[in-house]
Amino acid sequence: MIEQLKSELAERAQAGLKRKRRLLQSPQAAHLVADDQHLLSFASNDYLGLANHPDLILAFQQAAQLAGVGGGASHLITGHHQFHHEAEQALAGFVGSPSGLLFSTGYMANMGVVAALLGRNDAIFADKLNHASLNDAAVLSRAELNRYAHQDLSQLEQMLAASNAPRKLVIVDAVFSMDGDIAPVPELLALCEKYDAYFLLDDAHGFGVLGRQGRGILSHFNVISPRIIYMATLGKAAGVAGAFVAGDETIIEYLIQSANTYIYTTASPPALAAALVTAVNVMKKDEARHQHLRDLIAYFKENLSLKKWQLMPSDTAIQPIVVGSNEATLGLSNYLLALGVLVPAIRPPTVPKNTARLRISLSAAHTLDDVKLLIQHLHEAEQVLAT
Ligand SMILES: *Cc1c(COP(=O)(O)O)cnc(C)c1O
Repeated sequence: MIEQLKSELAERAQAGLKRKRRLLQSPQAAHLVADDQHLLSFASNDYLGLANHPDLILAFQQAAQLAGVGGGASHLITGHHQFHHEAEQALAGFVGSPSGLLFSTGYMANMGVVAALLGRNDAIFADKLNHASLNDAAVLSRAELNRYAHQDLSQLEQMLAASNAPRKLVIVDAVFSMDGDIAPVPELLALCEKYDAYFLLDDAHGFGVLGRQGRGILSHFNVISPRIIYMATLGKAAGVAGAFVAGDETIIEYLIQSANTYIYTTASPPALAAALVTAVNVMKKDEARHQHLRDLIAYFKENLSLKKWQLMPSDTAIQPIVVGSNEATLGLSNYLLALGVLVPAIRPPTVPKNTARLRISLSAAHTLDDVKLLIQHLHEAEQVLAT
């Protein structure tokens, strides 16, 4: 096997697809140090700049003094700390849901929810551009997986109409992680109601970014329904780690009893949950932080003007520029890196073939000058590289 793996790795390197991990030597921030280089970064999911926020650091330190470091046991044994409970209440309340449940990661939350609620005879309906964790969750559940073309609601409706499955679950990214576009939640919910399907909404990139004070996709569209099982990750805009699922109280209680990725794993460190309560409080109190992010997104879209490369239509913090080939995209990323600006090149299999792109992510941690500099470099890069 090792010989086969070696040759596969060599093939990847040949195709410009071998990934390399950068060594981060500072906190996650707009201006960071990686591989001994000072860089202006547009590469994190820390959309509100909370990953290194003094209030969260203090809450984390104080909670560690009180609760120690390790989770120690699973939630159903002795791992469920008061801080976890408080974080669940704060997070569910913030998104307007009756009940919430913390998971250690978003990946685990998706796997846990889908595999607990669906089985062999059931059916899943999923957007083709959904996050990998949702596809893996579908496989784990053994339910039939029906994938429809990105944002194609008529294809989704045909699939729903044709299904006799006892349980149906529509699964979508609220904000698509490599495109930045937003799922049409009211229309999706209407289809779920019409065909008696439930609706798992993965708001990894909407929570903290969309809606009033960053309350996420439900606030953005002002929707509420017992059919919606809401999931948001907490290592992105919330600046910490983990994920939560929010929704109908019966569904949440059922997940506590039967989601394997909740039950058979050690509770995350309680201090993380305490930092999350502080993150919610900062989001409520410091509306200017959220507004600053919204302003940067609007400024970037208004002032970037490209001729050959394509800025994708996105109103979120994810602003991808499609370049096309792997080599050209990598060339652009390297060009920016030489100027001290870090923007990752996203290549297949993360995105479809020939749509390699630069994935710019904006954050409230950026200043307007940071964004102006990026725009200037991109304009110059297009002149130098794309002609
Ligand atoms: C990041 C992400 C996840 C996984 O969340 P983690 O907490 O990082 O495991 C799930 N879904 C989407 C859409 C994501 O972008």
